[in-house]
Amino acid sequence: MTDHSGLRLVALKCQKCGSLLNADTKDIVFYCGNCDSGFELINEKDELVPVNIDFAIPVKKMNAEVVYYPFWVFDANIKIISRDAAGSITGFIMNIFGKEDKNVGKFYIPAFETPLENLRKLGLEFSKAQPEFEVIKKGKLKGCTYSSKDAMKFADFIFLSIEAAKSDTLRSISYDLGLSSPKVIAIPFYKVSGSGLVDGIMGNQY
Ligand SMILES: [Zn+2]
Repeated sequence: MTDHSGLRLVALKCQKCGSLLNADTKDIVFYCGNCDSGFELINEKDELVPVNIDFAIPVKKMNAEVVYYPFWVFDANIKIISRDAAGSITGFIMNIFGKEDKNVGKFYIPAFETPLENLRKLGLEFSKAQPEFEVIKKGKLKGCTYSSKDAMKFADFIFLSIEAAKSDTLRSISYDLGLSSPKVIAIPFYKVSGSGLVDGIMGNQY
């Protein structure tokens, strides 16, 4: 339907079971607490598109309150098409998935609002660690405010920040991150009094 302002309104109902989807105003990814389905609101089409949402089970156990923050996780197959730098050919490879020569892995990008430097740090640390964990379906998820499309732009930003940090002088680069199969994984963080947030997967402090 269209209201008088011309804004299109989408009924936030689970397309699978019809339950109302619980969400905050800025959320664009929704989790149905009734049937565990996930949906992304695709703005151009005003459409709810199914997306897989899982919750990571903490690897590190801490006696503190747990909050879940959503991340977009893509399969990535990075190809450098050309790279023009002043230095030697070394540093040609990306070093994003923890090893110099690894170009295939999971690319993590925060899906929640956080300052850009934090987004870069979190995306990089999880992508470099390639953490292993079990997942479950669980209750509710809020705060997923970035679309999979936004996440792909952030992936470029994270990737280029690594490239730009290398010691040679990068003049130009042509690459393809080869991102596919977007899904959302809610990552547990512990609220530790005095030291902020500690992620429940690697145990890093933020
Ligand atoms: Zn449902």
